[in-house]
Amino acid sequence: MPLRSGTVYLVGAGPGDPGLLTVRGRDILSQADAVVYDRLANPLFLHLARPDAVLIDVGKVVGRHAMTQEEINRTLVEQARLGRSVCRLKGGDPFVFGRGGEEALECRAAGIPFEVVPGVTSSIAAGAYAGIPVTHRNVATSFAVITGHENPDKPETQVDWPGLARGADTLVFLMGIGNLPEITAQLIKHGRDAETPAAVVQWGTWPCQKVLVGTLADIAEQVAAAGLKPPAVTIVGHVAALRESLCWFENRPLFGRRIVVTRSRTQASDLTERLAELGAEPIELPVIAIAARDVSERVSALLADGVPYDWLVFTSTNAVELFCDALWAAGADSRALAGCRLGAVGSATAEALRSRGLRADFVPTSFSAADFTAQFPDTAGARVLFPCAAAAGETIVAELTAHGARVDALPLYDTVADALDVDAVRARFAAGEVEAVTFTSSSTVRNFRTLLPDVPLDGLCLAAIGPKTAETMAELGLAVSLTAPASRLDSLVEALVSWFAPSSA
Ligand code: SAH
Repeated sequence: MPLRSGTVYLVGAGPGDPGLLTVRGRDILSQADAVVYDRLANPLFLHLARPDAVLIDVGKVVGRHAMTQEEINRTLVEQARLGRSVCRLKGGDPFVFGRGGEEALECRAAGIPFEVVPGVTSSIAAGAYAGIPVTHRNVATSFAVITGHENPDKPETQVDWPGLARGADTLVFLMGIGNLPEITAQLIKHGRDAETPAAVVQWGTWPCQKVLVGTLADIAEQVAAAGLKPPAVTIVGHVAALRESLCWFENRPLFGRRIVVTRSRTQASDLTERLAELGAEPIELPVIAIAARDVSERVSALLADGVPYDWLVFTSTNAVELFCDALWAAGADSRALAGCRLGAVGSATAEALRSRGLRADFVPTSFSAADFTAQFPDTAGARVLFPCAAAAGETIVAELTAHGARVDALPLYDTVADALDVDAVRARFAAGEVEAVTFTSSSTVRNFRTLLPDVPLDGLCLAAIGPKTAETMAELGLAVSLTAPASRLDSLVEALVSWFAPSSA
Protein backbone atom coordinates (compact mmCIF):
# COMPACT_ATOMS: atom_id res chain seq x y z
CA MET A 1 0.00 0.00 0.00
CA PRO A 2 1.53 3.35 -0.98
CA LEU A 3 2.18 5.82 1.82
CA ARG A 4 0.21 9.01 2.11
CA SER A 5 2.25 12.09 1.38
CA GLY A 6 2.41 14.71 4.10
CA THR A 7 1.87 12.05 6.76
CA VAL A 8 4.09 11.24 9.72
CA TYR A 9 4.48 7.56 10.59
CA LEU A 10 5.73 7.00 14.13
CA VAL A 11 7.46 3.66 13.72
CA GLY A 12 8.89 1.54 16.50
CA ALA A 13 12.24 0.14 15.32
CA GLY A 14 12.53 -2.38 18.12
CA PRO A 15 15.46 -2.70 20.50
CA GLY A 16 18.24 -3.14 17.92
CA ASP A 17 18.18 -6.59 16.35
CA PRO A 18 17.07 -5.78 12.78
CA GLY A 19 14.85 -8.87 12.77
CA LEU A 20 12.69 -7.25 15.42
CA LEU A 21 11.40 -4.49 13.16
CA THR A 22 7.73 -5.19 12.37
CA VAL A 23 6.57 -5.99 8.84
CA ARG A 24 4.49 -2.81 8.80
CA GLY A 25 7.48 -0.83 10.06
CA ARG A 26 9.67 -2.20 7.29
CA ASP A 27 7.10 -1.39 4.63
CA ILE A 28 6.91 2.21 5.77
CA LEU A 29 10.67 2.58 6.18
CA SER A 30 11.30 1.26 2.68
CA GLN A 31 8.78 3.58 1.04
CA ALA A 32 9.05 6.83 2.99
CA ASP A 33 10.26 10.04 1.34
CA ALA A 34 12.02 11.07 4.54
CA VAL A 35 13.40 9.05 7.45
CA VAL A 36 13.95 10.79 10.78
CA TYR A 37 15.94 8.60 13.15
CA ASP A 38 18.11 8.72 16.23
CA ARG A 39 20.78 6.88 18.14
CA LEU A 40 19.11 3.68 19.18
CA ALA A 41 17.72 2.82 15.76
CA ASN A 42 20.12 0.30 14.25
CA PRO A 43 22.16 1.95 11.44
CA LEU A 44 21.58 -1.17 9.33
CA PHE A 45 17.95 -0.11 9.00
CA LEU A 46 18.99 2.79 6.80
CA HIS A 47 19.81 0.26 4.07
CA LEU A 48 16.09 -0.35 3.89
CA ALA A 49 15.29 3.26 3.07
CA ARG A 50 14.85 4.32 -0.52
CA PRO A 51 18.15 5.42 -2.07
CA ASP A 52 16.68 8.86 -2.70
CA ALA A 53 15.03 9.21 0.72
CA VAL A 54 16.00 12.20 2.83
CA LEU A 55 17.78 10.85 5.93
CA ILE A 56 17.74 13.07 8.99
CA ASP A 57 19.72 12.04 12.07
CA VAL A 58 18.16 13.85 15.00
CA GLY A 59 20.17 11.90 17.57
CA LYS A 60 23.50 13.08 16.26
CA VAL A 61 25.33 15.18 18.77
CA VAL A 62 25.95 18.49 17.05
CA GLY A 63 28.50 20.45 18.99
CA ARG A 64 27.63 18.94 22.32
CA HIS A 65 23.86 18.81 22.07
CA ALA A 66 21.59 16.43 20.26
CA MET A 67 18.52 18.02 18.71
CA THR A 68 16.02 19.07 21.34
CA GLN A 69 12.56 17.52 21.35
CA GLU A 70 11.13 20.82 20.11
CA GLU A 71 13.54 20.79 17.17
CA ILE A 72 12.61 17.20 16.38
CA ASN A 73 8.91 18.05 16.49
CA ARG A 74 9.51 20.99 14.19
CA THR A 75 11.53 18.80 11.78
CA LEU A 76 8.68 16.29 11.54
CA VAL A 77 6.11 18.99 10.80
CA GLU A 78 8.41 20.70 8.28
CA GLN A 79 9.11 17.47 6.42
CA ALA A 80 5.42 16.59 6.26
CA ARG A 81 4.58 20.10 5.05
CA LEU A 82 6.99 19.57 2.15
CA GLY A 83 4.51 16.92 1.07
CA ARG A 84 6.75 14.05 2.11
CA SER A 85 5.75 10.81 3.73
CA VAL A 86 7.84 10.80 6.89
CA CYS A 87 9.02 7.70 8.71
CA ARG A 88 9.88 8.72 12.27
CA LEU A 89 11.91 5.73 13.36
CA LYS A 90 12.20 5.36 17.12
CA GLY A 91 13.98 2.82 19.29
CA GLY A 92 11.76 0.15 20.83
CA ASP A 93 8.12 1.19 20.93
CA PRO A 94 7.27 4.81 20.15
CA PHE A 95 4.89 5.11 23.09
CA VAL A 96 7.09 3.51 25.75
CA PHE A 97 9.27 6.34 27.02
CA GLY A 98 9.77 7.29 23.41
CA ARG A 99 8.12 10.70 23.48
CA GLY A 100 6.03 9.43 20.60
CA GLY A 101 2.96 10.84 22.30
CA GLU A 102 4.47 14.31 22.23
CA GLU A 103 5.38 14.03 18.57
CA ALA A 104 1.87 12.85 17.74
CA LEU A 105 0.36 15.76 19.69
CA GLU A 106 2.57 18.17 17.77
CA CYS A 107 1.40 16.66 14.47
CA ARG A 108 -2.23 16.91 15.56
CA ALA A 109 -1.75 20.57 16.55
CA ALA A 110 -0.22 21.32 13.16
CA GLY A 111 -2.96 19.47 11.31
CA ILE A 112 -0.54 16.81 10.07
CA PRO A 113 -2.00 13.30 9.78
CA PHE A 114 -0.06 10.59 11.61
CA GLU A 115 -0.06 6.86 12.21
CA VAL A 116 1.57 4.85 14.97
CA VAL A 117 3.34 1.55 14.33
CA PRO A 118 4.09 -0.16 17.66
CA GLY A 119 7.52 -1.67 18.10
CA VAL A 120 9.11 -4.39 20.19
CA THR A 121 10.00 -2.56 23.36
CA SER A 122 13.37 -3.04 25.04
CA SER A 123 11.60 -3.28 28.37
CA ILE A 124 10.49 -6.78 27.40
CA ALA A 125 12.93 -7.70 24.62
CA ALA A 126 16.20 -7.02 26.48
CA GLY A 127 15.12 -9.49 29.13
CA ALA A 128 13.93 -11.97 26.53
CA TYR A 129 17.35 -11.95 24.83
CA ALA A 130 19.02 -12.34 28.20
CA GLY A 131 16.88 -15.38 29.04
CA ILE A 132 14.70 -13.46 31.50
CA PRO A 133 10.91 -13.57 30.96
CA VAL A 134 9.04 -10.66 32.55
CA THR A 135 6.33 -13.02 33.80
CA HIS A 136 6.65 -16.70 34.71
CA ARG A 137 4.16 -19.15 36.16
CA ASN A 138 4.41 -19.29 39.93
CA VAL A 139 7.22 -16.73 39.92
CA ALA A 140 5.83 -13.47 38.57
CA THR A 141 2.26 -12.62 37.61
CA SER A 142 2.74 -8.92 36.96
CA PHE A 143 5.35 -6.51 35.74
CA ALA A 144 5.83 -2.77 35.70
CA VAL A 145 7.98 -0.61 33.43
CA ILE A 146 9.41 2.43 35.14
CA THR A 147 11.64 5.31 34.17
CA GLY A 148 14.81 5.30 36.21
CA HIS A 149 15.75 8.67 34.88
CA GLU A 150 14.15 10.56 37.71
CA ASN A 151 16.33 11.14 40.68
CA PRO A 152 14.53 9.28 43.48
CA ASP A 153 15.89 11.71 46.05
CA LYS A 154 14.13 14.65 44.41
CA PRO A 155 11.27 15.76 46.64
CA GLU A 156 8.98 16.18 43.62
CA THR A 157 9.56 12.64 42.28
CA GLN A 158 6.57 11.19 40.47
CA VAL A 159 7.59 7.62 41.18
CA ASP A 160 5.53 6.05 43.96
CA TRP A 161 8.35 4.07 45.61
CA PRO A 162 6.37 2.42 48.39
CA GLY A 163 3.72 1.40 45.88
CA LEU A 164 6.29 0.20 43.37
CA ALA A 165 8.37 -1.77 45.81
CA ARG A 166 5.36 -3.97 46.53
CA GLY A 167 3.16 -3.30 43.51
CA ALA A 168 4.38 -5.63 40.77
CA ASP A 169 6.38 -8.86 40.88
CA THR A 170 8.83 -7.83 38.15
CA LEU A 171 10.13 -4.27 37.89
CA VAL A 172 11.84 -3.14 34.71
CA PHE A 173 13.70 0.16 34.87
CA LEU A 174 14.63 2.00 31.69
CA MET A 175 17.18 4.80 31.62
CA GLY A 176 18.10 3.90 35.16
CA ILE A 177 21.74 2.98 35.01
CA GLY A 178 22.95 6.29 36.40
CA ASN A 179 20.54 6.19 39.34
CA LEU A 180 20.89 2.51 40.13
CA PRO A 181 22.29 2.96 43.68
CA GLU A 182 19.35 5.21 44.62
CA ILE A 183 16.77 3.01 42.89
CA THR A 184 17.89 -0.16 44.63
CA ALA A 185 18.18 1.64 47.97
CA GLN A 186 14.63 3.00 47.66
CA LEU A 187 13.22 -0.42 46.80
CA ILE A 188 14.93 -2.05 49.77
CA LYS A 189 13.89 0.80 52.03
CA HIS A 190 10.28 0.35 50.99
CA GLY A 191 10.14 -3.36 51.57
CA ARG A 192 11.71 -5.33 48.72
CA ASP A 193 13.94 -8.09 50.01
CA ALA A 194 17.58 -7.13 49.47
CA GLU A 195 18.24 -10.67 48.24
CA THR A 196 15.74 -10.33 45.35
CA PRO A 197 17.47 -11.32 42.10
CA ALA A 198 18.23 -8.40 39.79
CA ALA A 199 19.79 -8.21 36.33
CA VAL A 200 21.10 -5.47 34.08
CA VAL A 201 20.99 -5.96 30.32
CA GLN A 202 23.09 -3.55 28.31
CA TRP A 203 22.60 -3.24 24.54
CA GLY A 204 19.95 -5.97 24.70
CA THR A 205 19.41 -7.87 21.41
CA TRP A 206 22.59 -6.36 19.92
CA PRO A 207 25.67 -8.49 19.20
CA CYS A 208 27.42 -6.54 21.98
CA GLN A 209 24.76 -7.44 24.58
CA LYS A 210 26.13 -7.65 28.14
CA VAL A 211 24.27 -9.04 31.11
CA LEU A 212 25.02 -8.87 34.82
CA VAL A 213 23.00 -10.82 37.37
CA GLY A 214 23.05 -10.19 41.10
CA THR A 215 20.70 -9.13 43.85
CA LEU A 216 19.03 -5.89 44.74
CA ALA A 217 21.77 -5.48 47.32
CA ASP A 218 24.76 -5.80 45.00
CA ILE A 219 23.66 -5.12 41.41
CA ALA A 220 24.50 -1.40 41.55
CA GLU A 221 28.02 -2.19 42.74
CA GLN A 222 28.45 -4.77 39.99
CA VAL A 223 27.35 -2.27 37.35
CA ALA A 224 29.77 0.33 38.66
CA ALA A 225 32.62 -2.19 38.74
CA ALA A 226 31.91 -3.32 35.19
CA GLY A 227 31.55 0.28 34.03
CA LEU A 228 28.24 -0.41 32.25
CA LYS A 229 26.75 2.58 30.50
CA PRO A 230 23.39 3.19 28.81
CA PRO A 231 21.46 1.86 27.07
CA ALA A 232 20.55 -0.74 29.63
CA VAL A 233 17.48 -2.04 31.39
CA THR A 234 17.43 -3.22 34.99
CA ILE A 235 15.14 -6.11 35.83
CA VAL A 236 14.26 -6.67 39.46
CA GLY A 237 12.40 -9.80 40.54
CA HIS A 238 12.72 -13.55 40.90
CA VAL A 239 12.49 -13.95 37.12
CA ALA A 240 16.06 -12.60 36.88
CA ALA A 241 17.30 -15.90 38.33
CA LEU A 242 15.87 -17.76 35.33
CA ARG A 243 18.70 -16.53 33.15
CA GLU A 244 20.90 -19.26 34.50
CA SER A 245 18.65 -21.83 32.80
CA LEU A 246 17.33 -19.78 29.87
CA CYS A 247 20.38 -17.96 28.51
CA TRP A 248 20.40 -18.54 24.74
CA PHE A 249 21.45 -15.46 22.78
CA GLU A 250 25.09 -15.43 23.83
CA ASN A 251 25.45 -19.15 23.10
CA ARG A 252 25.39 -18.72 19.33
CA PRO A 253 28.65 -19.65 17.53
CA LEU A 254 29.70 -16.20 16.33
CA PHE A 255 28.26 -14.21 19.23
CA GLY A 256 29.81 -10.75 19.46
CA ARG A 257 32.35 -11.34 16.67
CA ARG A 258 32.91 -8.16 14.69
CA ILE A 259 33.23 -9.13 11.08
CA VAL A 260 33.65 -6.72 8.20
CA VAL A 261 31.58 -7.55 5.14
CA THR A 262 32.86 -5.90 2.00
CA ARG A 263 29.87 -5.63 -0.22
CA SER A 264 30.04 -5.75 -3.98
CA ARG A 265 27.64 -3.85 -6.14
CA THR A 266 25.72 -6.88 -7.31
CA GLN A 267 25.46 -8.56 -3.94
CA ALA A 268 22.57 -8.30 -1.56
CA SER A 269 23.37 -8.25 2.12
CA ASP A 270 23.01 -12.01 2.24
CA LEU A 271 26.27 -12.60 4.07
CA THR A 272 25.48 -9.85 6.56
CA GLU A 273 22.24 -11.57 7.46
CA ARG A 274 23.80 -15.01 7.81
CA LEU A 275 26.53 -13.71 10.09
CA ALA A 276 24.05 -11.75 12.20
CA GLU A 277 21.91 -14.86 12.46
CA LEU A 278 24.83 -16.62 14.16
CA GLY A 279 25.35 -13.77 16.60
CA ALA A 280 28.11 -11.82 14.87
CA GLU A 281 28.15 -8.08 14.45
CA PRO A 282 28.57 -7.57 10.73
CA ILE A 283 30.24 -4.27 9.85
CA GLU A 284 29.37 -3.37 6.30
CA LEU A 285 31.84 -1.57 4.14
CA PRO A 286 29.81 0.28 1.53
CA VAL A 287 30.03 -0.27 -2.17
CA ILE A 288 32.16 1.99 -4.29
CA ALA A 289 30.53 4.06 -6.94
CA ILE A 290 32.46 5.83 -9.66
CA ALA A 291 31.78 9.48 -10.43
CA ALA A 292 33.47 10.35 -13.73
CA ARG A 293 35.05 13.79 -14.06
CA ASP A 294 34.72 15.88 -17.16
CA VAL A 295 38.16 15.60 -18.76
CA SER A 296 37.16 16.58 -22.30
CA GLU A 297 39.28 19.74 -22.36
CA ARG A 298 42.39 18.00 -21.09
CA VAL A 299 41.99 15.14 -23.50
CA SER A 300 41.45 17.48 -26.47
CA ALA A 301 44.59 19.40 -25.50
CA LEU A 302 46.46 16.13 -25.18
CA LEU A 303 45.37 15.04 -28.65
CA ALA A 304 46.23 18.42 -30.13
CA ASP A 305 49.79 17.95 -28.81
CA GLY A 306 50.01 14.45 -30.28
CA VAL A 307 49.91 12.78 -26.83
CA PRO A 308 53.45 13.80 -25.84
CA TYR A 309 54.23 10.90 -23.50
CA ASP A 310 56.51 7.86 -23.59
CA TRP A 311 54.28 5.90 -21.25
CA LEU A 312 50.69 5.67 -20.14
CA VAL A 313 50.28 3.89 -16.84
CA PHE A 314 46.98 2.47 -15.62
CA THR A 315 46.34 1.02 -12.18
CA SER A 316 42.62 0.24 -12.43
CA THR A 317 40.11 -1.06 -14.94
CA ASN A 318 38.02 2.05 -14.34
CA ALA A 319 40.88 4.26 -15.47
CA VAL A 320 41.26 2.21 -18.66
CA GLU A 321 37.55 2.35 -19.44
CA LEU A 322 37.14 6.05 -18.71
CA PHE A 323 40.31 7.06 -20.54
CA CYS A 324 39.36 5.11 -23.67
CA ASP A 325 35.83 6.54 -23.49
CA ALA A 326 37.25 10.05 -23.21
CA LEU A 327 39.45 9.48 -26.27
CA TRP A 328 36.44 8.23 -28.17
CA ALA A 329 34.30 11.19 -27.06
CA ALA A 330 37.02 13.54 -28.30
CA GLY A 331 36.73 12.00 -31.76
CA ALA A 332 39.86 9.85 -31.46
CA ASP A 333 40.64 6.20 -30.74
CA SER A 334 43.54 4.03 -29.68
CA ARG A 335 45.59 4.99 -32.74
CA ALA A 336 46.23 8.29 -30.96
CA LEU A 337 48.37 6.28 -28.52
CA ALA A 338 50.57 4.80 -31.24
CA GLY A 339 53.68 6.52 -29.94
CA CYS A 340 53.17 5.53 -26.30
CA ARG A 341 53.94 2.39 -24.39
CA LEU A 342 51.43 1.08 -21.87
CA GLY A 343 51.87 -0.04 -18.28
CA ALA A 344 49.16 -1.90 -16.36
CA VAL A 345 49.13 -2.70 -12.66
CA GLY A 346 47.24 -5.93 -12.03
CA SER A 347 46.06 -8.58 -14.42
CA ALA A 348 42.50 -7.17 -14.44
CA THR A 349 43.83 -3.82 -15.64
CA ALA A 350 45.89 -5.51 -18.37
CA GLU A 351 42.76 -7.45 -19.32
CA ALA A 352 40.75 -4.22 -19.59
CA LEU A 353 43.37 -2.81 -21.98
CA ARG A 354 43.22 -6.00 -23.99
CA SER A 355 39.45 -5.77 -24.33
CA ARG A 356 40.02 -2.37 -25.91
CA GLY A 357 42.50 -3.92 -28.33
CA LEU A 358 45.53 -2.63 -26.44
CA ARG A 359 48.46 -4.71 -25.26
CA ALA A 360 50.20 -3.78 -22.01
CA ASP A 361 53.95 -3.46 -22.52
CA PHE A 362 54.66 -3.64 -18.82
CA VAL A 363 52.84 -5.44 -16.01
CA PRO A 364 54.71 -5.47 -12.68
CA THR A 365 54.63 -8.64 -10.56
CA SER A 366 52.84 -7.00 -7.62
CA PHE A 367 50.62 -4.08 -6.73
CA SER A 368 53.11 -2.20 -4.61
CA ALA A 369 54.31 1.18 -5.81
CA ALA A 370 57.86 0.26 -4.81
CA ASP A 371 57.86 -2.86 -6.98
CA PHE A 372 56.31 -0.92 -9.80
CA THR A 373 59.12 1.59 -9.77
CA ALA A 374 61.83 -0.99 -9.26
CA GLN A 375 60.61 -2.99 -12.25
CA PHE A 376 59.59 -0.11 -14.51
CA PRO A 377 61.80 -0.41 -17.64
CA ASP A 378 62.84 3.19 -18.14
CA THR A 379 62.27 5.64 -15.33
CA ALA A 380 64.98 8.24 -15.87
CA GLY A 381 63.67 11.07 -17.99
CA ALA A 382 60.60 9.18 -19.21
CA ARG A 383 57.48 11.23 -19.73
CA VAL A 384 54.62 9.37 -18.07
CA LEU A 385 50.89 10.06 -18.16
CA PHE A 386 48.95 8.52 -15.31
CA PRO A 387 45.20 8.45 -15.87
CA CYS A 388 43.82 7.55 -12.45
CA ALA A 389 41.28 7.91 -9.67
CA ALA A 390 41.38 11.37 -8.13
CA ALA A 391 42.22 10.02 -4.70
CA ALA A 392 44.71 7.39 -5.86
CA GLY A 393 48.13 7.33 -7.26
CA GLU A 394 50.09 9.74 -5.10
CA THR A 395 52.54 7.01 -4.13
CA ILE A 396 53.19 5.89 -7.67
CA VAL A 397 53.58 9.46 -8.88
CA ALA A 398 55.97 10.21 -6.02
CA GLU A 399 58.00 7.03 -6.52
CA LEU A 400 58.33 7.46 -10.27
CA THR A 401 59.20 11.14 -9.90
CA ALA A 402 61.82 10.26 -7.30
CA HIS A 403 63.35 7.94 -9.87
CA GLY A 404 63.62 10.68 -12.46
CA ALA A 405 60.44 10.24 -14.48
CA ARG A 406 58.28 13.22 -15.38
CA VAL A 407 54.82 12.19 -14.37
CA ASP A 408 51.52 13.93 -15.02
CA ALA A 409 48.45 12.61 -13.28
CA LEU A 410 45.17 12.76 -15.14
CA PRO A 411 42.42 12.37 -12.53
CA LEU A 412 39.49 10.77 -14.33
CA TYR A 413 37.08 9.95 -11.57
CA ASP A 414 36.26 10.17 -7.92
CA THR A 415 35.41 7.12 -5.89
CA VAL A 416 32.41 7.75 -3.72
CA ALA A 417 31.27 5.26 -1.17
CA ASP A 418 27.55 4.65 -1.27
CA ALA A 419 25.75 6.66 1.39
CA LEU A 420 27.00 5.11 4.62
CA ASP A 421 30.19 6.14 6.20
CA VAL A 422 33.56 4.63 5.34
CA ASP A 423 35.12 6.65 8.14
CA ALA A 424 32.99 4.82 10.68
CA VAL A 425 34.40 1.51 9.48
CA ARG A 426 37.93 2.91 9.50
CA ALA A 427 37.40 3.98 13.10
CA ARG A 428 36.39 0.44 14.06
CA PHE A 429 39.67 -0.84 12.60
CA ALA A 430 41.64 1.89 14.34
CA ALA A 431 40.01 1.01 17.67
CA GLY A 432 41.12 -2.60 17.20
CA GLU A 433 37.53 -3.78 17.24
CA VAL A 434 37.48 -5.72 13.98
CA GLU A 435 38.17 -9.44 14.24
CA ALA A 436 37.66 -10.64 10.69
CA VAL A 437 37.22 -9.33 7.16
CA THR A 438 35.36 -11.33 4.54
CA PHE A 439 35.84 -11.17 0.79
CA THR A 440 33.28 -12.70 -1.53
CA SER A 441 34.80 -11.76 -4.88
CA SER A 442 37.89 -10.17 -6.36
CA SER A 443 36.01 -6.92 -6.74
CA THR A 444 35.27 -6.81 -3.01
CA VAL A 445 39.02 -7.12 -2.41
CA ARG A 446 39.66 -4.18 -4.70
CA ASN A 447 36.82 -2.16 -3.11
CA PHE A 448 38.34 -2.79 0.29
CA ARG A 449 41.81 -1.78 -0.83
CA THR A 450 40.50 1.39 -2.46
CA LEU A 451 38.30 2.48 0.43
CA LEU A 452 40.64 1.47 3.25
CA PRO A 453 44.14 1.27 1.78
CA ASP A 454 46.00 1.49 5.07
CA VAL A 455 44.00 0.09 7.99
CA PRO A 456 45.94 -2.23 10.35
CA LEU A 457 45.18 -5.89 9.55
CA ASP A 458 47.70 -7.70 11.73
CA GLY A 459 46.20 -10.62 13.57
CA LEU A 460 42.81 -10.36 11.88
CA CYS A 461 41.12 -13.26 10.15
CA LEU A 462 41.06 -12.40 6.44
CA ALA A 463 38.60 -14.79 4.82
CA ALA A 464 38.21 -15.57 1.13
CA ILE A 465 35.20 -17.23 -0.43
CA GLY A 466 37.35 -19.16 -2.89
CA PRO A 467 40.74 -19.56 -4.56
CA LYS A 468 40.25 -16.77 -7.12
CA THR A 469 39.39 -14.25 -4.42
CA ALA A 470 42.30 -15.53 -2.33
CA GLU A 471 44.58 -14.95 -5.30
CA THR A 472 43.44 -11.35 -5.67
CA MET A 473 43.94 -10.85 -1.94
CA ALA A 474 47.49 -12.13 -2.20
CA GLU A 475 48.13 -9.91 -5.23
CA LEU A 476 46.96 -6.91 -3.23
CA GLY A 477 49.12 -7.82 -0.29
CA LEU A 478 46.46 -9.27 2.02
CA ALA A 479 47.49 -12.35 3.98
CA VAL A 480 44.74 -14.94 3.48
CA SER A 481 43.79 -16.61 6.78
CA LEU A 482 41.19 -18.97 5.39
CA THR A 483 39.62 -19.94 2.09
CA ALA A 484 36.13 -21.45 2.10
CA PRO A 485 36.42 -25.05 0.87
CA ALA A 486 33.32 -24.94 -1.30
CA SER A 487 33.46 -21.39 -2.74
CA ARG A 488 29.98 -20.59 -1.48
CA LEU A 489 28.58 -18.25 1.16
CA ASP A 490 27.47 -21.07 3.46
CA SER A 491 30.91 -22.61 3.22
CA LEU A 492 32.52 -19.26 4.05
CA VAL A 493 30.27 -18.88 7.07
CA GLU A 494 31.06 -22.42 8.24
CA ALA A 495 34.77 -21.75 7.88
CA LEU A 496 34.41 -18.63 10.02
CA VAL A 497 32.51 -20.57 12.66
CA SER A 498 35.31 -23.14 12.90
CA TRP A 499 37.91 -20.38 12.91
CA PHE A 500 36.29 -18.83 15.96
CA ALA A 501 35.28 -22.09 17.65
CA PRO A 502 36.82 -22.25 21.14
CA SER A 503 38.25 -25.73 20.52
CA SER A 504 40.37 -24.51 17.62
CA ALA A 505 42.16 -22.02 19.86
N1 SAH B 1 10.95 3.43 23.37
C1 SAH B 1 12.06 2.66 23.86
C2 SAH B 1 12.62 3.21 25.15
C3 SAH B 1 13.26 4.55 24.96
S1 SAH B 1 13.97 5.18 26.41
C4 SAH B 1 11.60 1.21 24.03
O1 SAH B 1 10.41 0.91 23.95
O2 SAH B 1 12.46 0.35 24.18
C5 SAH B 1 15.65 4.69 26.21
C6 SAH B 1 15.98 3.61 27.19
O3 SAH B 1 15.49 2.38 26.70
C7 SAH B 1 17.44 3.37 27.41
O4 SAH B 1 17.98 4.26 28.35
C8 SAH B 1 17.43 1.96 27.94
O5 SAH B 1 17.05 1.93 29.29
C9 SAH B 1 16.32 1.35 27.15
N2 SAH B 1 16.81 0.63 25.96
C10 SAH B 1 16.54 0.90 24.68
N3 SAH B 1 17.12 -0.02 23.87
C11 SAH B 1 17.75 -0.88 24.68
C12 SAH B 1 18.51 -2.05 24.45
N4 SAH B 1 18.73 -2.51 23.23
N5 SAH B 1 19.00 -2.71 25.52
C13 SAH B 1 18.78 -2.26 26.77
N6 SAH B 1 18.09 -1.15 27.04
C14 SAH B 1 17.57 -0.48 26.01
